[in-house]
Amino acid sequence: MALMKILFLDQTGKIAGAELVLFDLARFYGQNCLVGLFEDGPLRQRLIDQGVPVKVLAQQPLQVRKTASLLQGMASLGQLLPLIQRVVQLSRDYDLVYANTLKAIVVASIASLFSRKPLVIHLHDILSDQHFSPANRRLVVSLANQFASQVIAVSEATSKAFIAAGGNPSLVQVVYNGFDPAVYQAEDADRERLRKALVLEDRFVVGHFSRLSPWKGQHVLIDAMAQCPDHVVALLVGDALFGEQDYQVQLRWQVAECGLQDRVHFLGFRDDVPQLMSACDLVTHTSILPEPASRVLVESLLLGKPLVTVQGGGSDELVLHGETGWLIPSSDPQRLAEMIQYCVETPDQMQSVAQQGKRDATDRFNLSNFQQNIQQILQQIY
Ligand code: UDP
Repeated sequence: MALMKILFLDQTGKIAGAELVLFDLARFYGQNCLVGLFEDGPLRQRLIDQGVPVKVLAQQPLQVRKTASLLQGMASLGQLLPLIQRVVQLSRDYDLVYANTLKAIVVASIASLFSRKPLVIHLHDILSDQHFSPANRRLVVSLANQFASQVIAVSEATSKAFIAAGGNPSLVQVVYNGFDPAVYQAEDADRERLRKALVLEDRFVVGHFSRLSPWKGQHVLIDAMAQCPDHVVALLVGDALFGEQDYQVQLRWQVAECGLQDRVHFLGFRDDVPQLMSACDLVTHTSILPEPASRVLVESLLLGKPLVTVQGGGSDELVLHGETGWLIPSSDPQRLAEMIQYCVETPDQMQSVAQQGKRDATDRFNLSNFQQNIQQILQQIY
């Protein structure tokens, strides 16, 4: 059956979780799709390298913050209108429009009024009051209810929050993210090379892989590190992607204040996450708010790395406590330090849980199953 033609829309060209999911979908559709980005960034070249057509649709990023009120959001209407026009124009050549982020939902919904093309929403966010202002939640949910043919949620937690915020339950379907198993094969040679390059050979290495943002909770790991033995070191991998540079400065202060300059290393944004993860002894994830379905958790499981993460949101669906990884309360550095210490002391127990995690994740989060699932959903709409 011929692939349908899809116009994917995303508010950013930066590389965060939602954009990596989009990357995997767009390369499945290849020349049959166009990715419209509201802002340029490294995602554009990554897509082009895979033969995916890309257009940057706006001159400047849209200034609507997650926590801003609807009124503040409306202030950026001057930027919004040309974007909507552009999307209406482009969508003439496509069978459906696929909105991958919240700002893309706003633009694509209004555009669909004029273009009459079916709209699919991929919801990567938990629409709860912890994450979003009431006005923005209402806006997104009303637009979805009115204009979307389908909402694809990345986890049950994401789906439930959408419904709790007033979303129409009959629109939502949960599809977990998929991952290419070939990318997550740990090579001993890479591991040794990286550990040597980072001077970590005789250390117990705890990895943290997230953009730097207060709600990702890197500060919790730094507090925990202050309670860990000296041979435990932490790698903070990721950059402040969405204007959270103050947090980065704050983290560096915290490290200096705790005297951890030799034990906490900031590696910035990296393209070699699987290799770096495999060089770690343990992966931690310390978000202080519920995660929708963090990709990092699954990546760590696929690599057979012991994983300590926090309870709540989609994490409870991805990780089975004590069976495939460990779930601890959020914002609890003491508990995290105890878990790190436990992992240092019981490497065999840690490895057997990690291996079970690898088997479970390999079964559940396969890239080609994910691509096929989405394709089936879209075929039914079109
Ligand atoms: N990532 C990356 N380089 C980095 C840090 C993170 O490529 O330096 C990737 C990471 O491997 C994961 C994604 O960024 O695939 C983050 O996705 P996640 O769902 O965990 O978080 P989000 O950014 O969507 O909140």
